Amino acid sequence: MRVPLIAGNWKMHTTVGEAIELVNKMRSELDEIDNVDKVLCPPFVSLAAIRELIKESSIKLGAQNIYFEEEGAYTGEISPLMIADLCEFVIIGHSERRQHFGEIGEVVNKKIRAALAVRLKPILCLGERLEEKEAGRTREVITEQLGSSLSGIDNLDGLIIAYEPIWAIGTGRAATGKQANETISFIRYNTAKLYGKEIAQDTRILYGGSVTADNASEFISQPEIDGALVGGASLKADQFLSIVKQTSKIRR
Ligand code: PEP
Repeated sequence: MRVPLIAGNWKMHTTVGEAIELVNKMRSELDEIDNVDKVLCPPFVSLAAIRELIKESSIKLGAQNIYFEEEGAYTGEISPLMIADLCEFVIIGHSERRQHFGEIGEVVNKKIRAALAVRLKPILCLGERLEEKEAGRTREVITEQLGSSLSGIDNLDGLIIAYEPIWAIGTGRAATGKQANETISFIRYNTAKLYGKEIAQDTRILYGGSVTADNASEFISQPEIDGALVGGASLKADQFLSIVKQTSKIRR
């Protein structure tokens, strides 16, 4: 049985004060919801403060990125060791990083290795662009991204995959539950080809892309979808709480 997981990617939003306020608005209700892993991924600067706020709760913490070296002269970067000290999860290969910061497959692969080496659980993001979808290349793109991200990695050790079609991120134009389920089923099939059926069956695969409280149930009720990576809606306490509550109810 895969425990569903809902992660909130706050992206580059909230000052430390605003982050604390947002957590305070949802902490006690979120804490009480069982049978769902609830993960908050605020900006780096708020991680320590939020860790303190949630330390007695069932809420988990994730970072939005790491560098792949453990330490050194890399001004401005944050190492896996620093994050492992604070968090259980880290988002890797988000399309915004691929698009704005030139993160190619090789870099994503190094980051996944670096995360696993310090027992951080990576949330690996995969997804096709609109033109790739329209050209019928979704499966080809996903296969390439999965292969290059995991190249040479023997043990997935808690790795989570998030299928995030780029055309659905922040656009209000979500995939349908059926579309997302089909592609996620394909990702699982590919994971099985690389790591065997048992590991593929144990690997949680999320959907991400314009998930809100209004459409979350469409995704969560699909058999292959193990939760959601939520961007915009995770910045609204009532929306995020509702998505987590619906997940708990549907997957009970
Ligand atoms: C994301 O940032 O991973 C995401 C899915 O964003 P949104 O929910 O806003 O589309």
